[in-house]
Amino acid sequence: MKFLSAIVAVGLSTMAIAGCGDEGQVTESFAADPVQTMFATAAKFADIAVGIDPWEVVVCQVPQGTTDSLYEPIDVRLDLASTDIVAALTPVVDYFSRWSHGQYQPKFTAVSGVSIGVDEKSEVCVDRALDKASAATRGVLVIADAQHTEVAVGGWGRPGTPCTKNCSAKQTGRAVYIGASDFMPYWQGNPPLDLVEHELGHALDWPHSSTSMDNFGSGLYDSDVDVMSNSSAPRETFPETRNAPGPLAINMYLAKWLQDTHVASLESGTRSFELVATETDLTVDGVRLLIVTVNDSLVLTVELIKASGDNQHLLHDRVVVHQVEVVGEIGYERRQTVLSDDLLSGEQWSNDQVQIKILEITSDQSVTTASVEATVLR
Ligand SMILES: [Zn+2]
Repeated sequence: MKFLSAIVAVGLSTMAIAGCGDEGQVTESFAADPVQTMFATAAKFADIAVGIDPWEVVVCQVPQGTTDSLYEPIDVRLDLASTDIVAALTPVVDYFSRWSHGQYQPKFTAVSGVSIGVDEKSEVCVDRALDKASAATRGVLVIADAQHTEVAVGGWGRPGTPCTKNCSAKQTGRAVYIGASDFMPYWQGNPPLDLVEHELGHALDWPHSSTSMDNFGSGLYDSDVDVMSNSSAPRETFPETRNAPGPLAINMYLAKWLQDTHVASLESGTRSFELVATETDLTVDGVRLLIVTVNDSLVLTVELIKASGDNQHLLHDRVVVHQVEVVGEIGYERRQTVLSDDLLSGEQWSNDQVQIKILEITSDQSVTTASVEATVLR
């Protein structure tokens, strides 16, 4: 079954690549390298995660008596201007600056609000914000002034249509939309920001991750080691925390926040690798991401996550292993599954294709390192 689904996945990704050129033929060698396929997919958005990224912040007024069932049927509304929200987003800018090592900076600008009618849906908020966006704006961040119901999602984010040049939000539809809940007075001006960070991750073309392969599309995002899964994991352990967990190394690599020199790969046999923690400053040499190729559309990723900063909630440093299945036409559709989220010194993980042994995890004053032995079993 697994093999069949891999074949289908290859078909999908080759279609996606063909779409970039004019009926371009996909060569065997190209299709056989899942990392190249991922980079070809990421290239559809060019440098979406590099440099200054101008966002407009827009408050959407939702009328009392709204018929959109997304909203809690109460009269309370958020009483904040978009300037207040921009001020509250400073830690979000810091978060992306830290994880991109200064290479990516969302720049939030407060602009005038929009409103919807009683019979209009939340999506109209976003349509109106996009309609009036300036040409230089690459994304709109829309905050509704009404809270969502408890069972509804908190928000959503999208990278918009693929674009490589002069990518105004007006043209691509790139947007993040969230309900009022995280900014209500209840938070006393200290709002949780993990949801905004998660949705901005989608706007960078990042997919969800989950601990179960069967969960994709079902909305169960339950991994505590990835901003694109359980983004509130840090404050579940430390209630004062406001940021999401850090991103996975594969997303950092495709965002161009890690370079080829920070990545090692294994296609056959057994080799040992020294990994440094993903958060390590780029002036420190060392591999942040090990990619083990399983087949044309499947790789395993191995990385060391240090339990500090945004990942302090993890309580101890650990090696994590994900399966990354290259499917779909954009990165957002990639399937990233946790295979092991807590490997310690002396432990090992294997399936019938790959074995990962953690020889040792060590820390000195500046760098945390893991010695890992990886074997391709087939
Ligand atoms: Zn999401």
